[in-house]
Amino acid sequence: MCTWPARGRPSYFCSSACREQYEYERAQLAEDIKALEEALDAPDGSYRDRRRVETELAKRRWGMQRYLFDSAQLTPSRKRRKGNE
Ligand SMILES: [Zn+2]
Repeated sequence: MCTWPARGRPSYFCSSACREQYEYERAQLAEDIKALEEALDAPDGSYRDRRRVETELAKRRWGMQRYLFDSAQLTPSRKRRKGNE
């Protein structure tokens, strides 16, 4: 969980480790969703298999709702502030 900084303007992530963790989890979910969607596209597999894949896909999509923010959109704020902290 992110913590409010003791001083300075809060950035989106409290630390680079926090940001990396977010990006990692987000990438894992995206990868899982892609693989599950591909599995569903394939015509093989029993009804039960497909139901299981659909359930897993629903879980991952639900989880992804917490990771909608793309941290790649963040501009590094340190560059804009010219050392007047
Ligand atoms: Zn954090």
